Amino acid sequence: MLAHELMHVVQHKHSQRISRNIHDYWKTGKDNPKACLVHVHNDEHNSRQVAHLLMERCNYKLIDIQTRVSKPGRSARYLKKPLKTTAKTTAEMKKDPNEIFDTKVIDKCEKYLSEKDAKKKQEILQGIHKYHDQEKVHIYDICAFYRDLKDCSKNFTIPVVALHNNEEMNKTARDISATMPKQDIVKPREVIKELKRRTRTERKEWEGLGPRTTDIYQWALLLSKGILKKATIQDPKNPDRVIWTTHKGDYEKLRNTGGMNVVLQDPNFKGDTDLSTLFNYPDILQEGQTTKADPRYINIETEHTRGKYDKTGAVANLELVHQVLTNLGLWSCGGKSWKTLRGELP
Ligand SMILES: [Zn+2]
Repeated sequence: MLAHELMHVVQHKHSQRISRNIHDYWKTGKDNPKACLVHVHNDEHNSRQVAHLLMERCNYKLIDIQTRVSKPGRSARYLKKPLKTTAKTTAEMKKDPNEIFDTKVIDKCEKYLSEKDAKKKQEILQGIHKYHDQEKVHIYDICAFYRDLKDCSKNFTIPVVALHNNEEMNKTARDISATMPKQDIVKPREVIKELKRRTRTERKEWEGLGPRTTDIYQWALLLSKGILKKATIQDPKNPDRVIWTTHKGDYEKLRNTGGMNVVLQDPNFKGDTDLSTLFNYPDILQEGQTTKADPRYINIETEHTRGKYDKTGAVANLELVHQVLTNLGLWSCGGKSWKTLRGELP
């Protein structure tokens, strides 16, 4: 971590920091945490500050991926090769932490973690070292992350809440979005249909956003691909403020609250690329368990300028996080309001 970043980190007085190779696990001394917060992307500084503030001042644990291994001393976004571990791995692919848990990885980690015999434990690791033996970091680090995630979420019985920032749409595109209707979207075609009514310039501007920008419209395009079940646009003025859910009840509550852009992951989805969810393979979590773990996952994103911390952006992040957690009955901050916390952001 660079010296200037250290200044922005909220001091932790009531937590235990456990440093691993690719992440830090902050265990609070408080009983019954309401959620396990996860900060995934090292270059998203606003949401990192919010995550640390909530862990320190409220009733949450936190896993913060550091990706120190990628470039020592740098806050790089991607994990170092070979932590991108999906079957389709190629050296060129980005190693996004969102993609970390593929079927094989979870399977190996479950076996590794449940094995009592030290020698057999080593053998399990050996079995996957052929991918990794040229690297300083190997599957053990991913399993350590997985183990801490299980601990943090009490074996997936409390929600995992990921905090993110994404790149803001340019002004023209935001202006177009602001005039889009508030609506539930069932098919991507409905977004496209609306755009067809727009001028050529507007459409061009919109299309120029590119496929890699995260916003509610990009997410809505994942409908009818077996990835998302539902999407609703309730805040077209802020298309970059988005919430990803995996439980229908959470989706419905947030949708009915109004004023938020929310999507619901298809429960049968099995994917392997960065899709804003840590739980690409929910069914694998059933292994070794008598009931389906069905992790309750909530990803909350707000806009930022990549790689930069700014307080206005952090406040916007905190406000949405507060709104979401309150509406889901997960806000637990010892009576402190979000406005009190706002004053503690750097
Ligand atoms: Zn992110």
